[in-house]
Amino acid sequence: MSYEAVIGLEVHVQIKTRTKMFTAAPYVYGAEPNTLTDPVVLGLPGTLPVLNHLAIEKCAQLGLMLQCAIAEQCKWDRKNYFYPDSPKNYQLTQNDQPLCIGGKVEIELPGPSRNIEGEHRWVQLNRIHLEEDPGKLTHEAFDTVIDFNRAGVPLAEIVTEPDMQNSTEAVAFLNALRNLIIYAGISDCDMEKGQMRCDANVSLRPVGTNSLGTRTEMKNLNSISNVKAAIEYEIARQTQILDEGGVIVQETRRWDVDSSSSSSLRSKEEAHDYRYFPDPDLMPVQMDPKRIEQLDAQLPERPLDKQRRYQGDLDLPYTITSVLCPNLQLSEFFEAALEVYAAPKAIANYIANDLLRELADASARGASSHCVSDCKLTPAHIATLAKIIDTGVISKQIGKEVFTEMFNTGIMPDVIVKTKGLKQSNDSEEIESLCREAIAGNEKAVSEYRAGNLKALNALKGPVMKATKGKANPAMLDDLLKQLIDKA
Ligand code: ADP
Ligand code: MG
Repeated sequence: MSYEAVIGLEVHVQIKTRTKMFTAAPYVYGAEPNTLTDPVVLGLPGTLPVLNHLAIEKCAQLGLMLQCAIAEQCKWDRKNYFYPDSPKNYQLTQNDQPLCIGGKVEIELPGPSRNIEGEHRWVQLNRIHLEEDPGKLTHEAFDTVIDFNRAGVPLAEIVTEPDMQNSTEAVAFLNALRNLIIYAGISDCDMEKGQMRCDANVSLRPVGTNSLGTRTEMKNLNSISNVKAAIEYEIARQTQILDEGGVIVQETRRWDVDSSSSSSLRSKEEAHDYRYFPDPDLMPVQMDPKRIEQLDAQLPERPLDKQRRYQGDLDLPYTITSVLCPNLQLSEFFEAALEVYAAPKAIANYIANDLLRELADASARGASSHCVSDCKLTPAHIATLAKIIDTGVISKQIGKEVFTEMFNTGIMPDVIVKTKGLKQSNDSEEIESLCREAIAGNEKAVSEYRAGNLKALNALKGPVMKATKGKANPAMLDDLLKQLIDKA
Protein backbone atom coordinates (compact mmCIF):
# COMPACT_ATOMS: atom_id res chain seq x y z
CA MET A 1 0.00 0.00 0.00
CA SER A 2 1.26 3.51 -0.60
CA TYR A 3 0.85 6.21 2.02
CA GLU A 4 0.69 9.98 2.06
CA ALA A 5 1.92 12.12 4.92
CA VAL A 6 -0.21 14.58 6.87
CA ILE A 7 1.58 17.29 8.81
CA GLY A 8 0.39 19.88 11.33
CA LEU A 9 2.75 22.33 13.01
CA GLU A 10 2.62 24.07 16.38
CA VAL A 11 4.84 27.14 16.33
CA HIS A 12 5.73 29.02 19.48
CA VAL A 13 6.77 32.65 19.08
CA GLN A 14 8.04 34.89 21.86
CA ILE A 15 6.26 38.22 21.61
CA LYS A 16 8.67 41.17 21.70
CA THR A 17 7.66 43.11 24.82
CA ARG A 18 9.78 44.88 27.40
CA THR A 19 8.21 43.00 30.30
CA LYS A 20 6.72 39.57 30.91
CA MET A 21 3.15 38.33 30.40
CA PHE A 22 1.93 38.70 33.99
CA THR A 23 4.51 40.85 35.74
CA ALA A 24 6.83 43.82 35.22
CA ALA A 25 10.00 41.67 35.31
CA PRO A 26 11.95 42.48 32.14
CA TYR A 27 13.15 40.02 29.54
CA VAL A 28 16.19 40.25 27.29
CA TYR A 29 17.96 37.36 25.63
CA GLY A 30 21.34 36.34 26.98
CA ALA A 31 21.20 37.84 30.48
CA GLU A 32 22.94 36.12 33.40
CA PRO A 33 20.74 33.11 34.36
CA ASN A 34 18.00 33.70 36.95
CA THR A 35 18.48 37.48 37.09
CA LEU A 36 15.23 38.38 35.27
CA THR A 37 12.82 36.99 37.79
CA ASP A 38 10.57 38.27 40.56
CA PRO A 39 8.17 36.66 43.04
CA VAL A 40 5.42 36.34 40.38
CA VAL A 41 7.75 34.60 37.93
CA LEU A 42 8.93 32.26 40.67
CA GLY A 43 5.36 31.55 41.79
CA LEU A 44 5.99 32.49 45.40
CA PRO A 45 2.97 32.21 47.70
CA GLY A 46 0.76 35.29 47.86
CA THR A 47 1.76 36.72 44.48
CA LEU A 48 -0.84 37.66 41.88
CA PRO A 49 -0.53 38.00 38.11
CA VAL A 50 -1.05 41.38 36.39
CA LEU A 51 -1.91 41.26 32.71
CA ASN A 52 0.45 42.75 30.10
CA HIS A 53 -2.02 44.45 27.75
CA LEU A 54 0.62 45.20 25.13
CA ALA A 55 1.27 41.46 24.75
CA ILE A 56 -2.46 40.90 24.14
CA GLU A 57 -2.55 43.64 21.52
CA LYS A 58 0.56 42.32 19.79
CA CYS A 59 -0.88 38.81 19.73
CA ALA A 60 -4.10 40.21 18.24
CA GLN A 61 -1.99 41.93 15.58
CA LEU A 62 -0.24 38.64 14.88
CA GLY A 63 -3.68 37.10 14.42
CA LEU A 64 -4.76 39.88 12.05
CA MET A 65 -1.56 39.50 10.03
CA LEU A 66 -2.36 35.76 9.72
CA GLN A 67 -5.99 36.50 8.79
CA CYS A 68 -7.51 35.02 11.95
CA ALA A 69 -10.78 36.15 13.51
CA ILE A 70 -10.15 37.90 16.83
CA ALA A 71 -12.29 36.55 19.66
CA GLU A 72 -14.62 38.97 21.43
CA GLN A 73 -13.44 37.44 24.67
CA CYS A 74 -10.51 35.27 25.62
CA LYS A 75 -9.70 33.79 29.00
CA TRP A 76 -6.87 32.23 30.97
CA ASP A 77 -6.60 28.62 32.03
CA ARG A 78 -4.18 26.74 34.21
CA LYS A 79 -2.47 23.82 32.50
CA ASN A 80 -1.29 21.73 35.41
CA TYR A 81 1.89 19.73 35.18
CA PHE A 82 4.72 18.92 37.51
CA TYR A 83 8.07 19.56 35.89
CA PRO A 84 11.03 21.67 36.99
CA ASP A 85 10.70 24.21 34.15
CA SER A 86 7.43 25.43 35.69
CA PRO A 87 7.89 27.21 39.02
CA LYS A 88 4.13 27.34 39.74
CA ASN A 89 3.45 23.74 38.65
CA TYR A 90 1.00 25.12 36.14
CA GLN A 91 1.32 27.18 32.99
CA LEU A 92 -1.10 30.02 32.25
CA THR A 93 -2.48 29.44 28.77
CA GLN A 94 -5.72 29.72 26.80
CA ASN A 95 -7.46 26.39 26.44
CA ASP A 96 -11.03 26.74 25.17
CA GLN A 97 -11.17 30.48 24.45
CA PRO A 98 -8.06 31.42 22.47
CA LEU A 99 -7.48 35.02 21.34
CA CYS A 100 -7.29 34.23 17.60
CA ILE A 101 -9.44 31.77 15.70
CA GLY A 102 -8.82 30.17 12.30
CA GLY A 103 -6.52 32.05 9.94
CA LYS A 104 -4.44 31.18 6.90
CA VAL A 105 -0.94 31.71 5.57
CA GLU A 106 -0.06 32.02 1.90
CA ILE A 107 3.02 30.02 0.98
CA GLU A 108 5.12 29.78 -2.17
CA LEU A 109 6.46 26.33 -3.05
CA PRO A 110 9.88 26.12 -4.70
CA GLY A 111 9.73 26.71 -8.46
CA PRO A 112 11.50 24.57 -11.08
CA SER A 113 14.56 26.76 -10.57
CA ARG A 114 15.54 29.53 -8.20
CA ASN A 115 14.72 32.14 -10.83
CA ILE A 116 11.21 30.89 -11.59
CA GLU A 117 8.25 31.58 -9.36
CA GLY A 118 6.74 28.51 -7.70
CA GLU A 119 3.13 27.58 -7.09
CA HIS A 120 1.28 29.39 -4.30
CA ARG A 121 -1.18 27.85 -1.86
CA TRP A 122 -2.74 28.54 1.53
CA VAL A 123 -2.10 26.69 4.76
CA GLN A 124 -5.08 26.83 7.11
CA LEU A 125 -4.59 27.68 10.77
CA ASN A 126 -6.65 26.35 13.63
CA ARG A 127 -5.96 29.03 16.24
CA ILE A 128 -3.42 31.20 18.01
CA HIS A 129 -3.42 31.31 21.77
CA LEU A 130 -1.31 33.20 24.26
CA GLU A 131 0.57 31.58 27.09
CA GLU A 132 3.64 32.09 29.24
CA ASP A 133 6.99 30.58 28.34
CA PRO A 134 8.32 28.04 30.84
CA GLY A 135 11.87 28.27 32.19
CA LYS A 136 14.75 26.77 30.27
CA LEU A 137 16.21 23.44 31.35
CA THR A 138 19.68 22.52 30.20
CA HIS A 139 20.59 18.88 30.59
CA GLU A 140 24.26 18.40 31.34
CA ALA A 141 26.18 15.19 31.85
CA PHE A 142 25.18 14.55 35.47
CA ASP A 143 22.98 17.52 36.12
CA THR A 144 20.06 19.55 34.90
CA VAL A 145 20.30 23.30 35.37
CA ILE A 146 17.36 25.69 35.30
CA ASP A 147 17.18 29.28 34.08
CA PHE A 148 13.95 31.07 34.95
CA ASN A 149 14.77 34.19 32.89
CA ARG A 150 12.57 32.89 30.11
CA ALA A 151 9.74 31.91 32.46
CA GLY A 152 6.72 34.14 32.00
CA VAL A 153 7.73 35.61 28.62
CA PRO A 154 4.61 36.14 26.45
CA LEU A 155 4.40 33.26 24.02
CA ALA A 156 2.00 32.96 21.10
CA GLU A 157 1.27 29.39 19.99
CA ILE A 158 0.24 29.20 16.35
CA VAL A 159 -1.51 25.90 15.60
CA THR A 160 -2.01 24.86 11.98
CA GLU A 161 -4.63 22.46 10.69
CA PRO A 162 -3.17 19.11 9.56
CA ASP A 163 -2.82 20.74 6.16
CA MET A 164 0.69 20.03 4.87
CA GLN A 165 1.89 16.95 3.02
CA ASN A 166 5.66 17.00 3.02
CA SER A 167 8.73 18.66 4.47
CA THR A 168 8.95 21.11 1.54
CA GLU A 169 5.53 22.53 2.36
CA ALA A 170 6.40 22.72 6.05
CA VAL A 171 9.61 24.63 5.27
CA ALA A 172 7.75 26.99 2.92
CA PHE A 173 5.15 27.55 5.64
CA LEU A 174 7.73 28.33 8.33
CA ASN A 175 9.56 30.78 6.06
CA ALA A 176 6.33 32.54 5.09
CA LEU A 177 5.22 32.65 8.72
CA ARG A 178 8.57 34.03 9.85
CA ASN A 179 8.43 36.80 7.24
CA LEU A 180 4.89 37.76 8.27
CA ILE A 181 5.82 37.89 11.96
CA ILE A 182 8.93 39.99 11.34
CA TYR A 183 6.95 42.34 9.07
CA ALA A 184 4.32 42.80 11.78
CA GLY A 185 7.03 43.59 14.37
CA ILE A 186 5.87 40.82 16.72
CA SER A 187 9.20 39.01 17.00
CA ASP A 188 12.59 38.76 15.28
CA CYS A 189 12.00 34.99 15.02
CA ASP A 190 15.62 34.09 15.73
CA MET A 191 15.36 30.33 16.24
CA GLU A 192 18.85 30.14 17.72
CA LYS A 193 17.71 32.45 20.50
CA GLY A 194 14.53 30.45 21.06
CA GLN A 195 12.34 33.30 19.79
CA MET A 196 10.60 30.86 17.43
CA ARG A 197 10.28 27.12 18.08
CA CYS A 198 8.41 24.44 16.24
CA ASP A 199 6.81 21.09 17.08
CA ALA A 200 5.87 18.91 14.12
CA ASN A 201 2.96 16.43 14.12
CA VAL A 202 3.20 13.72 11.48
CA SER A 203 0.89 10.88 10.49
CA LEU A 204 0.42 8.69 7.43
CA ARG A 205 -2.71 7.52 5.68
CA PRO A 206 -3.36 5.38 2.60
CA VAL A 207 -3.24 7.57 -0.53
CA GLY A 208 -6.70 8.73 -1.48
CA THR A 209 -8.28 8.37 1.97
CA ASN A 210 -9.51 11.25 4.10
CA SER A 211 -9.43 10.14 7.72
CA LEU A 212 -6.37 10.94 9.79
CA GLY A 213 -3.91 8.30 10.92
CA THR A 214 -2.26 8.10 14.34
CA ARG A 215 0.28 10.86 14.71
CA THR A 216 3.49 11.44 16.55
CA GLU A 217 4.70 14.82 17.76
CA MET A 218 8.32 15.86 17.33
CA LYS A 219 9.78 18.30 19.84
CA ASN A 220 13.02 20.22 20.08
CA LEU A 221 13.13 21.46 16.49
CA ASN A 222 15.15 24.62 16.84
CA SER A 223 15.98 25.37 13.23
CA ILE A 224 14.09 25.13 9.97
CA SER A 225 16.54 22.53 8.68
CA ASN A 226 15.86 20.42 11.80
CA VAL A 227 12.13 20.59 11.08
CA LYS A 228 12.77 19.38 7.54
CA ALA A 229 15.07 16.56 8.60
CA ALA A 230 12.78 15.45 11.46
CA ILE A 231 9.70 15.30 9.22
CA GLU A 232 11.53 13.30 6.58
CA TYR A 233 12.91 10.92 9.19
CA GLU A 234 9.47 10.44 10.73
CA ILE A 235 7.74 9.79 7.40
CA ALA A 236 10.35 7.12 6.61
CA ARG A 237 10.07 5.59 10.10
CA GLN A 238 6.27 5.37 10.04
CA THR A 239 6.26 4.03 6.47
CA GLN A 240 8.57 1.22 7.50
CA ILE A 241 6.43 0.32 10.52
CA LEU A 242 3.23 0.24 8.46
CA ASP A 243 4.91 -1.70 5.64
CA GLU A 244 5.97 -4.31 8.17
CA GLY A 245 2.39 -4.60 9.40
CA GLY A 246 2.99 -2.69 12.64
CA VAL A 247 0.94 0.12 14.22
CA ILE A 248 1.99 3.67 14.97
CA VAL A 249 2.04 4.53 18.66
CA GLN A 250 0.80 8.02 19.49
CA GLU A 251 3.74 9.55 21.30
CA THR A 252 5.95 12.57 21.73
CA ARG A 253 9.39 12.12 20.20
CA ARG A 254 12.57 14.08 20.65
CA TRP A 255 14.73 15.04 17.67
CA ASP A 256 18.42 14.58 18.25
CA VAL A 257 20.54 16.85 16.06
CA ASP A 258 23.77 14.94 16.54
CA SER A 259 22.46 11.56 15.40
CA SER A 260 19.86 13.00 12.98
CA SER A 261 17.25 10.69 14.43
CA SER A 262 14.40 10.84 16.91
CA SER A 263 13.56 8.72 19.91
CA SER A 264 10.46 8.33 22.03
CA LEU A 265 10.21 10.88 24.85
CA ARG A 266 6.87 9.90 26.38
CA SER A 267 3.52 8.54 25.38
CA LYS A 268 1.29 11.40 24.26
CA GLU A 269 -0.56 13.08 27.09
CA GLU A 270 -4.27 13.87 26.68
CA ALA A 271 -5.88 17.20 27.47
CA HIS A 272 -7.52 15.76 30.61
CA ASP A 273 -4.09 14.84 31.95
CA TYR A 274 -3.51 18.55 32.42
CA ARG A 275 -6.68 19.18 34.47
CA TYR A 276 -7.28 22.51 32.75
CA PHE A 277 -9.40 24.96 34.72
CA PRO A 278 -9.97 28.74 34.49
CA ASP A 279 -7.41 30.77 36.41
CA PRO A 280 -9.19 32.26 39.41
CA ASP A 281 -6.79 35.23 39.61
CA LEU A 282 -7.29 36.61 36.07
CA MET A 283 -10.46 38.05 34.56
CA PRO A 284 -11.49 37.07 31.04
CA VAL A 285 -10.31 39.72 28.55
CA GLN A 286 -12.88 41.60 26.45
CA MET A 287 -11.57 42.67 23.05
CA ASP A 288 -12.83 46.06 21.84
CA PRO A 289 -13.73 45.86 18.11
CA LYS A 290 -12.74 49.53 17.57
CA ARG A 291 -9.30 48.88 19.02
CA ILE A 292 -8.95 45.77 16.83
CA GLU A 293 -9.66 47.96 13.79
CA GLN A 294 -6.94 50.39 14.86
CA LEU A 295 -4.47 47.56 15.39
CA ASP A 296 -5.32 46.18 11.97
CA ALA A 297 -4.78 49.57 10.34
CA GLN A 298 -1.24 49.73 11.80
CA LEU A 299 -0.17 46.51 10.08
CA PRO A 300 2.03 46.62 6.99
CA GLU A 301 1.32 45.03 3.62
CA ARG A 302 2.02 41.27 3.66
CA PRO A 303 5.28 40.21 1.99
CA LEU A 304 3.69 38.21 -0.85
CA ASP A 305 1.19 41.03 -1.52
CA LYS A 306 4.12 43.42 -1.72
CA GLN A 307 5.86 41.06 -4.13
CA ARG A 308 2.80 40.96 -6.40
CA ARG A 309 2.66 44.77 -6.30
CA TYR A 310 6.35 45.14 -7.19
CA GLN A 311 5.91 42.72 -10.09
CA GLY A 312 2.68 44.32 -11.29
CA ASP A 313 2.92 48.07 -10.62
CA LEU A 314 6.69 48.47 -10.74
CA ASP A 315 7.28 45.82 -13.40
CA LEU A 316 10.18 44.27 -11.46
CA PRO A 317 11.19 40.70 -12.35
CA TYR A 318 10.65 37.78 -9.96
CA THR A 319 14.42 37.31 -9.64
CA ILE A 320 14.55 40.74 -7.93
CA THR A 321 11.24 40.74 -6.00
CA SER A 322 12.01 37.32 -4.54
CA VAL A 323 15.14 38.84 -3.00
CA LEU A 324 13.66 42.16 -1.83
CA CYS A 325 10.21 41.21 -0.52
CA PRO A 326 10.85 38.37 1.94
CA ASN A 327 13.28 40.74 3.67
CA LEU A 328 11.60 43.66 5.45
CA GLN A 329 14.84 45.64 5.79
CA LEU A 330 15.68 45.36 2.10
CA SER A 331 12.22 46.28 0.90
CA GLU A 332 12.06 49.26 3.27
CA PHE A 333 15.48 50.36 2.04
CA PHE A 334 14.22 50.06 -1.53
CA GLU A 335 11.09 52.10 -0.87
CA ALA A 336 13.05 54.79 0.96
CA ALA A 337 15.36 55.09 -2.07
CA LEU A 338 12.35 55.42 -4.37
CA GLU A 339 11.23 58.42 -2.30
CA VAL A 340 14.50 60.13 -3.21
CA TYR A 341 14.51 59.19 -6.89
CA ALA A 342 11.80 57.15 -8.57
CA ALA A 343 13.77 54.69 -10.71
CA PRO A 344 12.46 51.32 -9.45
CA LYS A 345 14.33 49.03 -11.84
CA ALA A 346 17.77 50.57 -11.45
CA ILE A 347 17.46 50.96 -7.69
CA ALA A 348 16.07 47.44 -7.16
CA ASN A 349 18.97 46.07 -9.19
CA TYR A 350 21.56 47.92 -7.15
CA ILE A 351 20.06 46.62 -3.92
CA ALA A 352 19.39 43.01 -4.95
CA ASN A 353 22.71 42.59 -6.77
CA ASP A 354 25.43 45.11 -5.95
CA LEU A 355 24.51 45.86 -2.35
CA LEU A 356 24.02 42.21 -1.39
CA ARG A 357 27.25 41.26 -3.15
CA GLU A 358 29.22 43.96 -1.30
CA LEU A 359 27.62 42.89 2.01
CA ALA A 360 28.51 39.25 1.35
CA ASP A 361 32.09 40.24 0.46
CA ALA A 362 32.33 42.36 3.58
CA SER A 363 31.00 39.49 5.66
CA ALA A 364 33.50 37.07 4.08
CA ARG A 365 36.28 39.54 4.97
CA GLY A 366 35.01 39.51 8.54
CA ALA A 367 34.01 43.19 8.47
CA SER A 368 31.65 44.27 11.20
CA SER A 369 29.03 45.77 8.92
CA HIS A 370 27.42 42.99 6.95
CA CYS A 371 23.73 43.73 7.22
CA VAL A 372 21.80 46.54 5.61
CA SER A 373 20.98 48.28 8.86
CA ASP A 374 24.58 48.88 9.86
CA CYS A 375 26.32 49.39 6.53
CA LYS A 376 27.49 52.84 5.43
CA LEU A 377 25.09 53.10 2.51
CA THR A 378 21.77 54.86 2.90
CA PRO A 379 18.83 54.77 0.47
CA ALA A 380 19.92 58.26 -0.65
CA HIS A 381 23.31 56.93 -1.80
CA ILE A 382 21.73 54.41 -4.15
CA ALA A 383 19.01 56.78 -5.36
CA THR A 384 21.59 59.47 -6.15
CA LEU A 385 23.78 56.99 -8.01
CA ALA A 386 20.82 55.92 -10.15
CA LYS A 387 20.03 59.56 -10.82
CA ILE A 388 23.51 60.63 -11.92
CA ILE A 389 23.62 57.67 -14.30
CA ASP A 390 20.18 58.48 -15.73
CA THR A 391 21.14 62.11 -16.26
CA GLY A 392 24.36 61.15 -18.03
CA VAL A 393 26.80 62.46 -15.43
CA ILE A 394 28.54 59.07 -15.36
CA SER A 395 28.16 55.85 -17.33
CA LYS A 396 26.84 52.59 -15.86
CA GLN A 397 30.34 51.22 -16.11
CA ILE A 398 31.80 53.98 -13.94
CA GLY A 399 28.76 53.51 -11.69
CA LYS A 400 30.11 50.08 -10.64
CA GLU A 401 33.33 51.69 -9.47
CA VAL A 402 31.43 54.44 -7.65
CA PHE A 403 29.21 51.84 -5.95
CA THR A 404 32.12 49.98 -4.39
CA GLU A 405 33.73 53.25 -3.36
CA MET A 406 30.59 54.60 -1.69
CA PHE A 407 29.93 51.25 0.00
CA ASN A 408 33.39 51.29 1.54
CA THR A 409 33.51 54.96 2.50
CA GLY A 410 29.92 56.14 2.88
CA ILE A 411 30.74 59.17 0.71
CA MET A 412 27.86 60.33 -1.54
CA PRO A 413 28.26 59.26 -5.18
CA ASP A 414 28.17 62.79 -6.62
CA VAL A 415 30.99 63.76 -4.28
CA ILE A 416 33.03 60.71 -5.32
CA VAL A 417 32.51 61.62 -8.97
CA LYS A 418 33.69 65.18 -8.34
CA THR A 419 36.76 64.41 -6.22
CA LYS A 420 37.90 61.51 -8.42
CA GLY A 421 37.15 63.34 -11.66
CA LEU A 422 34.91 60.54 -12.97
CA LYS A 423 32.40 62.75 -14.72
CA GLN A 424 31.41 61.35 -18.07
CA SER A 425 32.93 63.08 -21.07
CA ASN A 426 30.27 64.46 -23.41
CA ASP A 427 32.92 66.34 -25.34
CA SER A 428 31.97 65.25 -28.87
CA GLU A 429 35.00 66.83 -30.49
CA GLU A 430 37.44 64.98 -28.26
CA ILE A 431 35.55 61.69 -28.66
CA GLU A 432 35.31 62.12 -32.41
CA SER A 433 39.03 62.65 -32.82
CA LEU A 434 39.77 59.60 -30.67
CA CYS A 435 37.30 57.62 -32.83
CA ARG A 436 39.16 58.65 -35.97
CA GLU A 437 42.42 57.41 -34.44
CA ALA A 438 40.79 54.12 -33.45
CA ILE A 439 39.38 53.58 -36.96
CA ALA A 440 42.71 54.38 -38.59
CA GLY A 441 44.50 51.99 -36.23
CA ASN A 442 42.30 48.92 -36.78
CA GLU A 443 41.25 48.39 -40.39
CA LYS A 444 40.47 44.75 -39.69
CA ALA A 445 37.74 45.66 -37.20
CA VAL A 446 36.32 48.25 -39.58
CA SER A 447 36.00 45.78 -42.45
CA GLU A 448 34.54 43.10 -40.16
CA TYR A 449 31.95 45.60 -38.98
CA ARG A 450 31.16 46.54 -42.57
CA ALA A 451 30.76 42.82 -43.34
CA GLY A 452 28.00 42.68 -40.78
CA ASN A 453 29.82 41.69 -37.57
CA LEU A 454 28.39 44.36 -35.26
CA LYS A 455 30.50 43.14 -32.34
CA ALA A 456 33.63 44.25 -34.16
CA LEU A 457 32.73 47.77 -33.07
CA ASN A 458 33.81 46.87 -29.51
CA ALA A 459 37.41 46.56 -30.67
CA LEU A 460 37.20 50.21 -31.76
CA LYS A 461 35.52 51.39 -28.57
CA GLY A 462 38.25 49.87 -26.39
CA PRO A 463 41.03 52.36 -27.22
CA VAL A 464 38.66 55.34 -26.89
CA MET A 465 37.51 54.20 -23.44
CA LYS A 466 41.11 53.57 -22.48
CA ALA A 467 42.18 57.06 -23.57
CA THR A 468 39.30 58.67 -21.67
CA LYS A 469 39.72 56.38 -18.62
CA GLY A 470 36.26 54.93 -19.22
CA LYS A 471 34.60 58.32 -19.17
CA ALA A 472 33.50 58.67 -22.79
CA ASN A 473 29.71 58.81 -23.03
CA PRO A 474 28.98 55.28 -24.34
CA ALA A 475 25.94 56.28 -26.43
CA MET A 476 27.83 59.16 -28.03
CA LEU A 477 30.82 56.92 -28.71
CA ASP A 478 28.61 54.32 -30.38
CA ASP A 479 26.89 56.90 -32.59
CA LEU A 480 30.10 58.62 -33.61
CA LEU A 481 31.89 55.41 -34.56
CA LYS A 482 28.99 54.23 -36.71
CA GLN A 483 28.64 57.64 -38.41
CA LEU A 484 32.38 57.85 -39.16
CA ILE A 485 32.54 54.32 -40.59
CA ASP A 486 29.41 54.85 -42.69
CA LYS A 487 30.70 58.15 -44.07
CA ALA A 488 34.16 56.88 -44.93
P1 ADP B 1 -3.18 18.53 21.03
O1 ADP B 1 -4.42 18.54 21.82
O2 ADP B 1 -2.34 17.35 21.27
O3 ADP B 1 -2.42 19.80 21.09
P2 ADP B 1 -4.37 19.27 18.55
O4 ADP B 1 -5.59 18.61 18.04
O5 ADP B 1 -4.48 20.62 19.14
O6 ADP B 1 -3.66 18.30 19.53
O7 ADP B 1 -3.34 19.32 17.35
C1 ADP B 1 -2.05 19.71 17.52
C2 ADP B 1 -1.38 19.75 16.16
O8 ADP B 1 -1.32 18.44 15.58
C3 ADP B 1 -2.10 20.59 15.14
O9 ADP B 1 -1.14 21.33 14.41
C4 ADP B 1 -2.80 19.59 14.25
O10 ADP B 1 -2.91 20.08 12.93
C5 ADP B 1 -1.85 18.43 14.28
N1 ADP B 1 -2.51 17.14 14.07
C6 ADP B 1 -3.60 16.67 14.73
N2 ADP B 1 -3.90 15.44 14.29
C7 ADP B 1 -2.97 15.12 13.34
C8 ADP B 1 -2.74 13.98 12.52
N3 ADP B 1 -3.50 12.89 12.60
N4 ADP B 1 -1.71 14.01 11.67
C9 ADP B 1 -0.92 15.08 11.60
N5 ADP B 1 -1.08 16.18 12.33
C10 ADP B 1 -2.08 16.21 13.20
MG1 MG C 1 -0.95 21.20 21.43
